[in-house]
Amino acid sequence: MKCIGILGSTGSIGRQTVEVCRFLDYPVAFLTAKTSADLLFEQAKVLKPQVLVLEDESKAELLREKVKAAGLACRVEAGRRALIEVAKLPGVDMVLSSMVGMAGLEPTLAALESGIDVALANKETLVVGGDLVVKTARDHGAKLYPVDSEHSAIWQALAGGKKDALYKIFLTCSGGPFRGKKREDLAHVTAEEALNHPTWKMGGKITIDSATLMNKAFELIEACYLFDVDDRAVEVVVHPESIIHSMVEFNDHSVLAQLGVTDMRLPIQYALTYPERMDSLTPAFAPFSPKAHRLSFEPVDEETFPSIAWARQAWQKGQGTSIILNAANEVAVEYFLSGKISFVAIWEIIRHCLAKITAPKGFNLYNLEDILALDLETRREAGLRADRL
Ligand code: MG
Repeated sequence: MKCIGILGSTGSIGRQTVEVCRFLDYPVAFLTAKTSADLLFEQAKVLKPQVLVLEDESKAELLREKVKAAGLACRVEAGRRALIEVAKLPGVDMVLSSMVGMAGLEPTLAALESGIDVALANKETLVVGGDLVVKTARDHGAKLYPVDSEHSAIWQALAGGKKDALYKIFLTCSGGPFRGKKREDLAHVTAEEALNHPTWKMGGKITIDSATLMNKAFELIEACYLFDVDDRAVEVVVHPESIIHSMVEFNDHSVLAQLGVTDMRLPIQYALTYPERMDSLTPAFAPFSPKAHRLSFEPVDEETFPSIAWARQAWQKGQGTSIILNAANEVAVEYFLSGKISFVAIWEIIRHCLAKITAPKGFNLYNLEDILALDLETRREAGLRADRL
């Protein structure tokens, strides 16, 4: 039985990880949250971890009092530094990293540096720091396991052949809520429409990323790092039913797919129990259900959705471009969710940043300071552009 630590336990993946850990009866050593102190407290009552970390320091004192009053024997810490420190907690076998955005990079690196395996749900970590993350894992003998449903599918399918027999990865994509729409149809869509994902219930940021296909763009980069392939070996396939979670084709052109209902608890559990398979909370597959009885595939409309092409460009140009792509997107999505810019302006801001910013001379992709500086510069530029829209 593995001892788990959860970074970002109050978000969508974090809550489902809590559910899975309870179901498997796996001990949980720490939980962290950005601001959701109440939910963190509720989770602590059930899981009895050793440490709780709240990034928002202003709410920590109240949480400490509640923990004490409830008689819980856990330490409450606060702030960004504590969040990075807790990722190295001795006795933890695996850290599940499900924070949102680039914020997950440093704690993930901290766990890997301590030789702790990481189940990675936070794809931005690989997008902005893939080279550094992969090297850190290798140098410290730690493993990286995918939690993203597509990458979990690829990982499971790859078990059916040798790595050097891999011919192609088919990364499936639901198409998001705006599949079939053209650019002019998207000019006036609201945050509410964009948040209405057809097949997956997820957090706000990733749902918007799914609507712009930036999520798939990041997943393409994530796949290149996780499976050590070039972007040309990855084809994105729109598969609106989201029953096939991705496929792998070997050199004899045999294709292995991983199928199932859309339930993130399965890839979470597989990463936690690997190499074992255990009973799960996921409902059994129903091949005759209305969604599953016909499976369809379409190409991506790259004219309307430029995101995938940007990801390929970023992979070819190197990590600096991925950092710019991610930072511009994070800022743009925040602006869109707060109603300050239109949906298509998200792409406009990213396009602007990709054209305007380049990684400085001497940029070292293995240096965290360099990564953070380029991220910050892009955020500033993206904010300025967004304010002018
Ligand atoms: Mg995914």
